[in-house]
Amino acid sequence: MYPQDAEKLLADVDAFCQELRPTEELCYVEHRQNDAIAELAKKYDLLGMPIPVELGGRGADAVTYARALARIGREGTGARTFFSGHTSIGQYPILRYGNDAQKKRYLPASVRGEYILAFGLTEPDAGSNPLEMTSTYRREGNRFLLNGVKYLISNGGIAQAVVVLAYPEAATGPERRMSAFIVETAGETFETEDLPSKLGMFTANTAMFQMTDHPVPLENMLGEEGNGFRVAMGTLISGRLSVASGCLGVIEDCLVEAIHYCQTRTQHGKLIGKHQLVQEHLAAIEIARAASDAMIERAAHAKQRSDESPQDKDAAAEADLRVAQAKFFASNAAWEAADHAVQIFGGRGYSELYRVGRHLQDVRVCRIYEGTDEIMKLKIATALLGKDFAAFS
Ligand SMILES: Cc1cc2nc3c(=O)[nH]c(=O)nc-3n(C[C@H](O)[C@H](O)[C@H](O)COP(=O)(O)OP(=O)(O)OC[C@H]3O[C@@H](n4cnc5c(N)ncnc54)[C@H](O)[C@@H]3O)c2cc1C
Repeated sequence: MYPQDAEKLLADVDAFCQELRPTEELCYVEHRQNDAIAELAKKYDLLGMPIPVELGGRGADAVTYARALARIGREGTGARTFFSGHTSIGQYPILRYGNDAQKKRYLPASVRGEYILAFGLTEPDAGSNPLEMTSTYRREGNRFLLNGVKYLISNGGIAQAVVVLAYPEAATGPERRMSAFIVETAGETFETEDLPSKLGMFTANTAMFQMTDHPVPLENMLGEEGNGFRVAMGTLISGRLSVASGCLGVIEDCLVEAIHYCQTRTQHGKLIGKHQLVQEHLAAIEIARAASDAMIERAAHAKQRSDESPQDKDAAAEADLRVAQAKFFASNAAWEAADHAVQIFGGRGYSELYRVGRHLQDVRVCRIYEGTDEIMKLKIATALLGKDFAAFS
């Protein structure tokens, strides 16, 4: 991407964020989904930031896209999660694993906002181990019929199409390998239910959906049959980088808010920023910011190299590892930074009326979705020890 195009994209993202903030804040305190976000993103042409220009997107490289998500992350983990669902784990698998016809059918339309996208891997009984999923497909004439329930899906209640993973219905043993599908959500055979009872992220849609003999055209199988696990794992690398980037934004916003409060709130006859124990909190947030920034930049470069050489297994392994490290580090750093910021704000920090309290509530999920803390640690240790030491298979 040319530097001037990256600059323009980040300027558009900033303008989008400024316009988003009032509605995002209002929706948050009223605990309701922000339905304006997709339309506003469309206005600023942000519904396909890393999608190539010839497919209607902005052509952002991984580093620029990570910076864009960090800026959006300052507006809240809910707002950033919309983009992760639509782009990082919705558009990305189509771009990386789709054929030309699939790319042409879904990517320009999703950039125009005609298809909001989502990624359906998790099920009620299959989270950290997606191999335990029970969703199935079978072929009937010129279509597949999909059955199963997908749980905790970002954008799942607002998406027009979802990338779904399922096993062949009849297969057993080594034949039983999952495949990926681009599934359109229209019709009575695809039922959704929103899951609003979350600890935070009230502005973002999280839903479950049930497919009951839901028809999917044969041409909507994504990648080769039986190759779904690879599609899912590759997609999660993209998703994890988006989570890490959003967490950097959370830390940045906590820092801005905390500095301002330190410079304006007076107790014991002086600004609280002059109390050394308060300064300690501020220093911790700044260290979290600097370290997360460096790890994300490194991970984004590794992912860019892997995207440019899809057949290069070493590049893929390096991207996987660096992104896992960045995701683990930044999501924990953001959680701790938000906690420090809440402490600086005292009683006001313990309120959804202030940004830092909202960040604390929202960012907790980043240590869970797209792979939990524990799964990231196991992945990192396995990379060090070798596959023979994998804690689970
Ligand atoms: C708001 C939200 C949005 C989400 N969005 C999406 C989405 O868009 N698409 C999607 O597919 N999914 C999504 N998810 C699901 C998310 O990815 C899963 O919740 C996550 O992977 C964990 O799975 P689980 O909840 O089933 O927990 P479990 O897998 O049941 O884990 C429970 C605990 O056991 C630990 N554990 C499990 N296995 C091991 C092991 N081998 N070793 C050590 N510890 C282990 C876990 O780390 C965790 O602490 C979302 C979740 C949330 C909360």
